[in-house]
Amino acid sequence: MCPAFGAIRNLLRMEDAMPIVISSGDGCMYGHTFVAHFYVANRPIFSPGVSSQMWAKGSVFDELKAMVVEMAEKYQPSLIPICSLCVSDTVGLPFELLPKQIGNTEIVYVPLPAYSVHTHARAKDIVVDSLVWRLPSQRKARSGVNLIGELFPSDPIKIDDVLRRIGTHVNTTVPGPRWEDYVAMVDGAVNAPLHPFYSESVKRMKMKQGLPFVEGAPVGIDGTYAWIKSVGEILQLDPATVESVAADEREKVRAAMADYPLKGLTFMVAGYEGHEFMLVRLLIEAGASVPYLSTAVNTNPLARQEEAWLRERGCTVLYGANFDDEIGALQDHPYDCVIGTTPLCAHAKELGIPSIYYTNAMATRSQMFAEGAADILSLATSTYRSKERYHKIASFFSETGIPRQTATSWQPKIDLTEHLIVNDAFAPTNVAVAVAPAAVDGSEAQAAHGAVGA
Ligand code: SF4
Repeated sequence: MCPAFGAIRNLLRMEDAMPIVISSGDGCMYGHTFVAHFYVANRPIFSPGVSSQMWAKGSVFDELKAMVVEMAEKYQPSLIPICSLCVSDTVGLPFELLPKQIGNTEIVYVPLPAYSVHTHARAKDIVVDSLVWRLPSQRKARSGVNLIGELFPSDPIKIDDVLRRIGTHVNTTVPGPRWEDYVAMVDGAVNAPLHPFYSESVKRMKMKQGLPFVEGAPVGIDGTYAWIKSVGEILQLDPATVESVAADEREKVRAAMADYPLKGLTFMVAGYEGHEFMLVRLLIEAGASVPYLSTAVNTNPLARQEEAWLRERGCTVLYGANFDDEIGALQDHPYDCVIGTTPLCAHAKELGIPSIYYTNAMATRSQMFAEGAADILSLATSTYRSKERYHKIASFFSETGIPRQTATSWQPKIDLTEHLIVNDAFAPTNVAVAVAPAAVDGSEAQAAHGAVGA
């Protein structure tokens, strides 16, 4: 799926933004319009007309410029992000010649060519990165914590409640639904990326804002305590109060987790936006073994602290993982439960392993503080307990009446080219290339047709 979709989903959630998407053609535009309407509650996207002729004549840029001016003057949105996709970025439109601001409307170039942006995660990071670069300078008098990340809606409220007990508060949350959520970052005293996802944006924030950063998140027994303590130390809040609140929250998480012991169970986790690090932390603290965590994010400094914690507890992290890697890992241990991406869970279910879809079930839940821990662990426990049902279904669909079991030794990942060669996919009779005979008479044409269809 086109990686730019991830960015468009984020931008269209902004109520006061009118994104322009410079599509590469009709098919490209159809895909992005579909995403805009299907996934993002019927929001429109805008595009200058594009055609080969217009690209050749260079008139796309003129039309884009006229469109930006008209939209800004007529509708006065806070933001017009200009998403440059494959063709416009290859052609190299002179985006620097566009106005940066018209009235109160910010006009921001967002580069999203699919040939260099390979995941939705990276595309979302580019959006935040581009918007942050446009922020005004940091205010001198500032206070509160800027939360950064894909959060469950109740998370900022819960975090604010705890922060107020130690003498500070949540200043803003990005990505947020309004441009002013980003602008408010200049009033914050500390940035808190809550999962290792917006890594490029964070680099930019470091360059631009010069604010301190607090790492980790209030997730799990150790994580909750450490996060509250870190905020207190960075903001130099009253140490006794901070210690008391941190210890109190830690005990609440411990008590909540005691109801869901996972000792003796082995989980595999595969996620995509960095929440999975915190999820594995919860599972391990509840007693589970998690030998393998697969994540779509690439290795980055924001993940180092969390990765070290996981590694000390026997969990290997595979960054930028693909499906083949995950299937290989699935065969490496006899898993009791898999929490992962849709294709991985589908495969695990065929093996009779209880599985939870990350997107639908995990990414839509809070993991933070005692309530988050209880919610996540209760789902994991109830899924594992229904293993008999998974076994029955897998047996029903298996040819032998017994579900295929996971192997206990590592299998190398599939090499697709080798697989195709072994299966003679490149043999002349299997290559469906319509080589037209030079002089077509009836019999030659028939023979060629027969070969292609063989
Ligand atoms: S990959 Fe490029 S051309 Fe294809 S839909 Fe995405 S942006 Fe458009």
